[in-house]
Amino acid sequence: MYMKNTHLLFFVLLWFCTLGTASNEPQPVVWSPLLQLTNHTEIVSIAYTEEGEAQVVTPREELRLFEGLRRLEINDALYWMNGPMLFLDEEWQITNVDLENTLAPLLSKDPPPVATPPFIVVIDPGHGGQDPGAVVNGYQEKDIVLDTSLMLQAKLEDVGITAKLTRTNDVFIALEDRPVLARQKGASIFISIHANQAANGFAAGIESFILPAANFPGTSNTRTPYQQSMTANRFDVRNLLLADALQRPIIQATGAFDRGIKRERFAVLRDAPCPAVLVEIGFMSNTNDLANMLDPEWRKTLTEALRDGIVAIKPEIKNPE
Ligand SMILES: [Zn+2]
Repeated sequence: MYMKNTHLLFFVLLWFCTLGTASNEPQPVVWSPLLQLTNHTEIVSIAYTEEGEAQVVTPREELRLFEGLRRLEINDALYWMNGPMLFLDEEWQITNVDLENTLAPLLSKDPPPVATPPFIVVIDPGHGGQDPGAVVNGYQEKDIVLDTSLMLQAKLEDVGITAKLTRTNDVFIALEDRPVLARQKGASIFISIHANQAANGFAAGIESFILPAANFPGTSNTRTPYQQSMTANRFDVRNLLLADALQRPIIQATGAFDRGIKRERFAVLRDAPCPAVLVEIGFMSNTNDLANMLDPEWRKTLTEALRDGIVAIKPEIKNPE
């Protein structure tokens, strides 16, 4: 066992740097030994490599965690934890919030329900009106995500699920109004649909965003720095389970590169009245991704996978006794 002090130093520095932007004092981070996973699941084996990788095998999953990183792999799926795995007090540790609210629900045989009846899905096509979102070769994000959202709505209604949109045409809606609309429409889950753009044309794939835990920075560290608890933090576990229910089938169905479930304090997520996720369905700046997003057959595959993910978390309506 060993530890790279540079990683630890980096993370400690990160914590102090985030103080400057804080609206309140951050809470001290509580760490838990990775071995405390045994409180939540049976562990078949646990091994640590010389490179600082932890490999945990349970009866149903293989997990990989990495020293100094927030990256977490469970079977073939990728997640980003709130904090990294570190070697502290002679033990590999993760934050207690990741142990309890990330790993435990993902490994649970009986996770809490994401939504309660009546089941109303509110789909939020990003941008609109004077805000086109990303624009590449004359194609506008606002059009691609509206078409995708309308297609998803139709597929949900086909299977008897009530689905409403924050916009059904090319109108501008302010970011802060979108969670308000979700509340007015009685949302039990909220799905915001966007497309990505990057300076690097090779960047590709699908990623889903949820709210970071209170007091932790977003996955990028910079876009949405440290904040105290926000309205939608009460849904931390259900946000993650919602994102997981969607990200896995859409990666499987489309074969897109899996960029994982990330965390940022986006306006549409932090004030959501229910479990909420923002899905970036591809990179408009990537030739292949853009061609896919413009192809109605690909969008059909994507929206059917989203529908299947939503059907899987649809709450059971119990018949009256
Ligand atoms: Zn967007």
